This record gives sequence, structure tokens and C-alpha cells, in this order.
Amino acid sequence: MLPFKLVYSDGYYLPIGDHVFPAEKYRRIHDRLLADGIAEANDFLEPEPATDQDILLVHKPDYVHKLKTGTLTPREEMEMEVPYSRDLVEAFWLAAGGSILAARQALADGIGISIGGGFHHAFPDHGEGFCVIHDVAVAIRRLQRDDKIRTAMTVDCDVHQGNGTAAIFAGTRTASALLPSAGASTLDSAAQDAALNSALPGKMRGAHAGEVFTISLHQHNNYPLWKPPSSIDVDLPDGIGDDDYLAWLDNSLSSGLRQFEPDLLCYIAGADPYKEDQLGGLSLTVEGLKQRDELVFRVARARNIPVMVTFAGGYAQNVEDTVTIHCNTVIAAKEVFDA
Ligand SMILES: [Zn+2]
Repeated sequence: MLPFKLVYSDGYYLPIGDHVFPAEKYRRIHDRLLADGIAEANDFLEPEPATDQDILLVHKPDYVHKLKTGTLTPREEMEMEVPYSRDLVEAFWLAAGGSILAARQALADGIGISIGGGFHHAFPDHGEGFCVIHDVAVAIRRLQRDDKIRTAMTVDCDVHQGNGTAAIFAGTRTASALLPSAGASTLDSAAQDAALNSALPGKMRGAHAGEVFTISLHQHNNYPLWKPPSSIDVDLPDGIGDDDYLAWLDNSLSSGLRQFEPDLLCYIAGADPYKEDQLGGLSLTVEGLKQRDELVFRVARARNIPVMVTFAGGYAQNVEDTVTIHCNTVIAAKEVFDA
């Protein structure tokens, strides 16, 4: 039995037909975890859908109304890049409920994993990039409303920048061009960091945050074209491999945690930094991605910060690779939190 819970429902399946997003991955991850003996049936919790009130903690009433009544404009539907249906809306309400449950479990057990979610391209007033509802933001706002947490940090390791996350929590930021701490925080400008800079191609930019601190590590030369500023953005060059990626993750996590003490860490564990991803241009290996997960979990556990995990993107040519990468996130959590 796992020392934490996995949140899953067959209802996570997105009814989007033949699509680059492998909507069946959730069920495949669930089945593989059981078949390989990584998890048992009673390690899983079935979520309830979020309530409309929960969704409205993040999303605009007009947008929610359009989703519930099927009255999005053709342009709004096109921007989502997934075909609208009532069933689709229900799947996203369920994903948000799953993330709320995973966050609650994180507070109870130190970590809670939803075998889904991570829809970080959803904005308060529109969906885009396969994301309709920002489940992670809904979970943060719901736990804040319930006085379970005051602060949260998002650590987004999907290959695509967390534009929705940045936009949703931007209102709490006070602008600042440079991070206040020395060292890794001033990589983009300071000559004193030239050595580190040359060893680590890429760029870190940042600004202070209010009650939610957002970190995004992503391929610079990829969707979204417009990247609203996160508290820390790490713009990675094309083709970066395991070692450089892990060094940047380590840098940005320590920089963020020097500036900010979160009550909850929301880890968005996208599988698409993988070298064989169809929508990604980085070169991480399956093993490197597992080390990424371990690094996040070790840092959180050492500092006693509860972690909620969502899975976000993953478009490997072979969908079994995406399933393996996501299953490894659960294995990494087991290794770190069992010890
Ligand atoms: Zn992605």
C-alpha cells in the first residue's frame, strides 16, 4: 500500500476523439500502476466534480455560463483546440474536483497525486491549448477559501509555459525586474554569473509574488507565443538535456523557496519535456524525468511542504512512453515518501 493516495476516475477521460492529446492515458496509467503492483485498488480515491462555486473562484461567470449552456463563440471553441461537448465540460469539472481532493490529501499525507489535471493553459475568461478549466488554480482558491492554506507555489515542469497560471495569479504580483537574491537569480544579466550562465544555457527571469508564487520551466521556442510573466520563468533553449534541465530546476526551486514560504506546492508534472514528444523540443530521457520528479519531492519533503501533483501534457510518439513517464512520477513519490 502506498503512503499516500492517488486520485482517479474513469471520468477523467476527455471525449475529444482522435486527437494528439491521448485522453486514454489516465486509464492506462491507472491500469499500469495496478498491473505492475505499484499501487493497490485501495490506494485510489474517486473524486467528486468541483461545484460551480468552486469553478467561479477562478473563472469569469460569463465564461462558465457559456460552457454550461454550449454558447461559446466559434472562435472561443477554436482556441480551446478540443471539440466542445457537455461531456467535455463534465470531465473538466471532475478534473478540478480531483485536484481539490489531491490538494486536501497533500495536507493530510504530505503528498497527494491526481492521475489527471494540470490544465495550465486555461484563463479566467477562456480556454486554450486543450485546457478548459484551470483545475490547479481552482484547488488553490478552494483551499484558501476554506482557510486550509494561505499561500501556494506552483512548480510547472510541462514543456509549455504555464500562461494561464501566470495570468490568474498575476494580480497578486508586484513588479520587479530581477530576483532579490544573489547567484542564480540574476543569470540573465549579471556578469558575475557568467560562468554559471555559460554552463547552463537558458534564461531565468522573475518577479515577486503575493500569496501564490508561480514557477515555470519551459521551452522558450514553443507554445504559447505570448508568455505572461510567472514569478519565475525559466526559458530553456531547444534540445536541452537531463543535466542542464535538472540544474535549472534546482536553481529555480531554491531561488523560489528563498523568496517565498508556501503552505502547499502544486507540482505540474508534464511528460512532454521528453525527447520523443511530438509537441516538445527538449531532450529529456525517461530516467531524467524521473530524477526531475524525485528532485521536486525531495525538496518539498525536506522542507515539510505538502505537494499536490497533476500530470498535464504528454504527447510521446509512443503513448506507452507517456504512460511510463507518468507512472514513474508515482514511483518517485513512493521512493521519496516511503523512506
Ligand atoms: Zn505541455
